[in-house]
Amino acid sequence: RKVRGSLYCAADSDDTSRQLRQEKYRMREQLQSALSNNRLVLFYQPILDLNTNSISHCECLVRMLDDEGEFISPVHFLGIAAESGLMPQLDFSVMEKAMRQQRIWEDAGIDVGLSINITAITLEQVDFETRLADVITRTGANPIRLIFEVLETDALENLGQAQRLLNNFRKVGAKVALDDFGIGFTSFQYVRELPVDYIKIDQSFIRFIHERESDQVLVKSMVEMSHNLGKKVIVEGVETLQALEIVRDLGVECVQGYYVCRPMPISALDLSLSIRDFEPSS
Ligand code: C2E
Ligand code: MG
Ligand code: MG
Ligand code: MG
Repeated sequence: RKVRGSLYCAADSDDTSRQLRQEKYRMREQLQSALSNNRLVLFYQPILDLNTNSISHCECLVRMLDDEGEFISPVHFLGIAAESGLMPQLDFSVMEKAMRQQRIWEDAGIDVGLSINITAITLEQVDFETRLADVITRTGANPIRLIFEVLETDALENLGQAQRLLNNFRKVGAKVALDDFGIGFTSFQYVRELPVDYIKIDQSFIRFIHERESDQVLVKSMVEMSHNLGKKVIVEGVETLQALEIVRDLGVECVQGYYVCRPMPISALDLSLSIRDFEPSS
């Protein structure tokens, strides 16, 4: 009976792992097809500048349109993209779309920049610089209006090369942000070694900031450190007015989160949002 039991378990876990493999395989097929059939869509989430009280940038957040016309979140396909070598293609596809959009705003005299996520895998491609220059030329984007977000949790194989590449962004006038700051293992090393303009404090420090004293202390320290190093701070995951007020009092320059605006398709985006839209009328 014991043996049967364990056999049954083994078979069960085999089934589960086969199911997982099939699921992964399906997702990769879907991603591949989305890449070649232009079914990746960018959503845009406003970043509110607390000094100017207006939207300074929007973060570009990719979604995949599946066969049923549903949007699939990147958390479901970024891992697969990384594993199957599709990440550079995905990142470049996003860059291209984002830069085309930037050019449209530029031509329309809309003074809002775009913030683009880029993975270490893509940054480390040997032809990265040429391809980046190529997208900028082809789209006619104004690099001064662009921020590139690099994940603090992403392992960079070669810090020296990353420094050089990020400096190249800055040479053409683009800015660099260290994304999801505070949850990686190398926080201080990256802040010290990488030429970044913005620190984006991870949303896990913000979500409960109104009820957790320790989060307030941590965010205060991260803001002070960033400012002392001459970097601006963007805070993500602002879901309540209380959180917004707390981080504003801590001197944070920019806020992003559901309280301000959810990520939106371009057609639904309201770029005239201002801080006054979020304060209770007194
Ligand atoms: P991220 O760059 O840290 O982006 C912020 C994520 O938090 C987004 O999730 C956004 O929708 C979500 N978010 C924004 N405000 C709030 C809030 O107030 N509360 C909560 N709970 N969540 C909020 P999303 O769009 O699912 O993207 C997840 C991650 O996938 C991103 O994290 C980014 O690392 C990655 N990603 C998204 N688009 C791209 C892309 O085009 N290229 C690459 N390489 N990565 C991307
Ligand atoms: Mg980001
Ligand atoms: Mg983030
Ligand atoms: Mg994140």
